[in-house]
Amino acid sequence: MFDINNKLKFIKENNLYREIRYLSMPQDKVTIIDGRRVLLMSSNNYLGLCNHHKVKQAAIDAIKEYGLGSGGSRLTTGSYDLHKKLEKKIAKFKGCEAALIFNTGYMANVGVISAICNEDYYIFSDELNHASIIDGCRLSKGKVIVYKHNDIKDLEDKVKAINPKKGIIVTDSVFSMDGDIANIPEIIRIGKENNLLTMVDEAHATGVIGNNGKGSSEYFSCDVDITVGTLSKAIGSEGGFVCGNKEIIDYLKNKARSFIFSTALSPAVINGAIASFDVLKNDNSLVRKLQSNVSYLCKGLRNIGFDINSESPIIPIIIGEEDKAVEFSNRLLEEGIYIPAIRYPTVKKGKARLRMTVMATHSYEDIDFVIQKINEIKKYIKL
Ligand code: PMP
Repeated sequence: MFDINNKLKFIKENNLYREIRYLSMPQDKVTIIDGRRVLLMSSNNYLGLCNHHKVKQAAIDAIKEYGLGSGGSRLTTGSYDLHKKLEKKIAKFKGCEAALIFNTGYMANVGVISAICNEDYYIFSDELNHASIIDGCRLSKGKVIVYKHNDIKDLEDKVKAINPKKGIIVTDSVFSMDGDIANIPEIIRIGKENNLLTMVDEAHATGVIGNNGKGSSEYFSCDVDITVGTLSKAIGSEGGFVCGNKEIIDYLKNKARSFIFSTALSPAVINGAIASFDVLKNDNSLVRKLQSNVSYLCKGLRNIGFDINSESPIIPIIIGEEDKAVEFSNRLLEEGIYIPAIRYPTVKKGKARLRMTVMATHSYEDIDFVIQKINEIKKYIKL
């Protein structure tokens, strides 16, 4: 069949072959993957909300009241009062005038960038931005200028060299594979000085950074023009969202193709997300516990010789060669710890890593156990 078999062979020979692993228990700190009980150190369910009793109950209540599927796209019959309620909550949480729910964070990025930008636009994009931003840029047909990762000087030089009439700067706020945080205040400054829109992807920042988990606006006390996020990580549900002023949101409702041409999210996941925001509004203890686990894990890793300092729960151990990363991950699995090896094309070739994440539900004992096992295994795998 064409050259699919050769392509697959190439993927396997280069240690880039991926296989799906199946969970048979809730996504919590201890779960069952492919029949094996493991300590999960790779979930984006950072606050444990996807298995929170209030969140689950809200989803059950919505199914009882509304049924399962939404039955239509957002602009036909698929929008429920619940969608409107959640959009209001998200806008309030993020301190924006308005919000719009998309079906995934991926669809939000693709939809927003392709709706706003066209051939006349310059898009300044961090080299480590998420694939959904990259795909949105491609779809928009805008002129994409990639700047060095979180390098403000490189960004400013590139903006000044082009001096575009129309443009946007777009960045992840917490980078998904490195866990570092973009210099958003400087990005806003460059945006204002050069009359460019600014957009951040808060997929890994929402519920995570800032005292109350509100994301980069709380962490830095400053606001971009467009905030994109997902409900599928710390919020523990599914879906994506965009926040901005009323005009931007109104425009996106009319123009973002990934919003218009897809069936709306189920009332169950929407009501679950509403419950998650209520949990966060009333109590920041989960966010505080997450942040204290991040510090504890980083300190432990430094004690065993890794130069690691993260403020987000994404804590990668860079291994480099793909086969070594896979071996490290497999050995951890034998010890009952699941941390997948992340390889090309998710990260650059030769930059394979264990992408470790910590959750609010982990205890310090769990973290100690992980550090001990990493320390034991690293002696076998020459790094
Ligand atoms: N942006 C970033 C930075 C992400 O890491 C992800 C998910 N991996 C997304 C967007 C897409 O979000 P979703 O999973 O809701 O499609």
